[in-house]
Amino acid sequence: MSAVGRFAPTPSGRMHLGNAFAYLMAWLSARSEGGEVILRMEDLDTLRCTEEYAEGIRQDLRWLGLEWDREIPPQRLRTEAYEAALALLREKANVFPCWCTRGSLNLVNAPHATDGHPIHPASCRLRSEEERRRMKGAPAWRLEAPDLTICFTDGVYGTYSENLKTGCGDFVLRRADGVFVYQLAVVVDDGAAGVTQVVRGCDLLSSTPRQLYLCRLLGLPEPSYWHVPMLTDAEGRKLSKRDAAMDLGQLRREHRPEELIGLLAFRSGLIDREEAISPKELLCEFRWEKLKKGDIAVV
Ligand SMILES: [Zn+2]
Repeated sequence: MSAVGRFAPTPSGRMHLGNAFAYLMAWLSARSEGGEVILRMEDLDTLRCTEEYAEGIRQDLRWLGLEWDREIPPQRLRTEAYEAALALLREKANVFPCWCTRGSLNLVNAPHATDGHPIHPASCRLRSEEERRRMKGAPAWRLEAPDLTICFTDGVYGTYSENLKTGCGDFVLRRADGVFVYQLAVVVDDGAAGVTQVVRGCDLLSSTPRQLYLCRLLGLPEPSYWHVPMLTDAEGRKLSKRDAAMDLGQLRREHRPEELIGLLAFRSGLIDREEAISPKELLCEFRWEKLKKGDIAVV
């Protein structure tokens, strides 16, 4: 089976240098195996995402020399597929209505997951049909987290495991306002597109066990994962969308694309000295083992 990688940007703003780094690594990973790259807009947040931003991202990718083979439908057009997946999950596991709010979850004297959010209380899951009928307003839909440890090998960070019950807790699939959550959409979309490689920022490492659990319940093949380190400034602060100087709009005014690719390749350990280089030229230098572990300072 040949490799299928993907760019999955959220078109809610201009592309950032950190996004460009993740897309560069995704592109190198797929192309180094002679595989294809698909583009998908992750625009579940229809209030913040626009076609104008989506077009800006396409132009920035082309400018960087990161071409893709095909663009697949954006998430805002995929509601039917997510509804079908939710129906299948109802058959395979315990999907239940939940009226908890962020405020009520914080008030509950519940244990906390490893990332600090309150674990969803069992009392909500154990409500009777009678009690559910009396609840007011539309519920969110949650999936019961079983006492199951999901373990996988990340291509960058190595072995990673999480017990779904104690590390994460019951998690939302569809919000009360009807919007499907990223965790479900990404699994359904990657599965439908035959994606075999997921390369993305390490801030998503901790959500991977949930996604693998959904893959298994939905009978989808599990992709391989590489979570790439975060880019930081010289003081170790994570670059964010708030740093206008790090968005492609500003960077394109000051640099050639090969200079930016060269900077990312050098600071991340792919090449030995900083020099202008195109993604195509970088292909012969690319090996995942060269990538630095830990944060990468770029300014
Ligand atoms: Zn609840």
